[in-house]
Amino acid sequence: MSDKVKKSDAEWREELTPEQYRVTRQKGTERAFTGEYVDHKGEGVYRCVACGMPLFSSETKYDSGSGWPSFYEPVDAANVAEEEDRSLGMRRTEVLCAACEAHLGHVFPDGPRPTGLRYCINSAALDFDPETEGE
Ligand code: FE
Repeated sequence: MSDKVKKSDAEWREELTPEQYRVTRQKGTERAFTGEYVDHKGEGVYRCVACGMPLFSSETKYDSGSGWPSFYEPVDAANVAEEEDRSLGMRRTEVLCAACEAHLGHVFPDGPRPTGLRYCINSAALDFDPETEGE
């Protein structure tokens, strides 16, 4: 999937809930342990809440204890984009949806095998789809 999804700020505001808009379009972060997918189990794919791009599989979800849904790798590396984030006095790697540029969360080098990565993702940026497991 290489098609870019471009919408105006007004369109995003209309389509997303205030919390989804704040997280995905304004690079917000939901409070730890408050998102609906923190302890979510079940087989399927977590899609971008803004455009539907498949982002993470339940097969790579694990309990990091961080308070946010955590995955050790994306469904496809091409489906996410990464950018350096120097906000809040920290140096982090931001993770975005490759199609619509929704802010998803951050990736840290302290995850489990086999990748050693921890994709720390806001529930508000995700939409769980139980119908498309193993994509
Ligand atoms: Fe998206």
